[in-house]
Amino acid sequence: MNFENVNKELIAFLDSSPNAFYAVSNMCKTLEDAGLIRLYEGKPWELEAGKGYYVTRNDSAVIAFRIPKKDYTGFQMMASHCDSPVFKIKTNAEIAIDKQYVKLNVEKYGGMICAPWLDRPLSVAGRIIVRTEEGIETRLVNIDRDLMIIPNLAIHMNREVNDGYKFNAQVDMLPLFCEKGEESDVFIKMIAEEAGVKAEDILDTDLFLYNRMKGTMLGLNNEFVASGRLDDLQCAYASLQGFLKAEPKDSVAVHCVYDNEEVGSGTKQGAAGTFLKDTLRRINSSCGKSEEEYLMSIASSFLVSADNAHAVHPNHPEKSDPTNRPYLNKGIVIKYSANQKYTTDAVSGAVMRAICNEAKVPFQIFTNRSDMLGGSTLGNISQSQVALNTVDIGLPQLAMHSPYETAGAKDTAYLIEAARVLFSSTMEGTGDGKYRLLF
Ligand code: ZN
Repeated sequence: MNFENVNKELIAFLDSSPNAFYAVSNMCKTLEDAGLIRLYEGKPWELEAGKGYYVTRNDSAVIAFRIPKKDYTGFQMMASHCDSPVFKIKTNAEIAIDKQYVKLNVEKYGGMICAPWLDRPLSVAGRIIVRTEEGIETRLVNIDRDLMIIPNLAIHMNREVNDGYKFNAQVDMLPLFCEKGEESDVFIKMIAEEAGVKAEDILDTDLFLYNRMKGTMLGLNNEFVASGRLDDLQCAYASLQGFLKAEPKDSVAVHCVYDNEEVGSGTKQGAAGTFLKDTLRRINSSCGKSEEEYLMSIASSFLVSADNAHAVHPNHPEKSDPTNRPYLNKGIVIKYSANQKYTTDAVSGAVMRAICNEAKVPFQIFTNRSDMLGGSTLGNISQSQVALNTVDIGLPQLAMHSPYETAGAKDTAYLIEAARVLFSSTMEGTGDGKYRLLF
């Protein structure tokens, strides 16, 4: 496995994807370059066996699929997410202080670690909606330079800062943007100029802060990779690369990346929405199949819900489970939780182990400490739309939900290989709890 190249390309993807809109746009470019055909939900679909397609929803979620040359048995799928905890710029963002500074009014999106957002260069990226002669149109905007900072309070003004600090999002987390001049609305004027449109033609915006620090390799032998948004663009990237390398034979390969996992998935482009179900149903009807054939194919399908996992922390090894302890670079993490916050059960866990064995990549197990609640992810949420055998996995990482996270240099390549095997495979249901795995 060429770990070095994989990490180079992963870091380029992370650096150019400051938020979900950019991540989806970058994935679409890659899919386009690989010869996949773009579909729109608002236009008819005419699908052909042996071809690959992709469709986006809200410009912030994407599903790509490849139909095998002959009739298919089911869907072999991997779902990840492309949003990360971040600060969103509010409407009417400018706040003047003492007629000297302009800071921006922001609010939390998701549950982030606040402290590492302070005292580092930040900028802003996202989408704007522009009035045109035909209606409205979306433009992506990224101010690609060091632009803002959220300054800490000096230790002399808060002597207790190192004894634990409760961050107030309305007080502590607003970024300093510029000196106050004569002009007003300088923020939106800057966005308009960058996008090449008139400020008055911008009808609305979805703009987010991002950490300017680029991804890098570190450790004595470059064995670690550190970057913003590893959760969950590392899995989204591995899923995409595995998808492009795969050769679907008897099942439709489906690469699915949702938005809004960090805020509970309850949007049209999130896992609780109908995006995946609508897409699978349209594939089914476009291929001339009946409702019964749809349900039969779902029973012969498999979903890998891929969202990063907690590795054992070097300074807090006691926070991990006593017997299931994932480490960086030791492979794909299969996640279990008895209360089914993770969907993995004995059947889907067994299938995932078989996939890893076939791919010749290592895997390890995560469970929460029994006295810790732990997080949740998109796998169990998507069951309410498309219910099927699902496993929850992830890649091991540290500092989850920090704007700069750390992962292993080998694990991305392991997941690419496992995804390639998944997308090339078929899982034929021959009875409840009985399957033929065809690799
Ligand atoms: Zn995640």
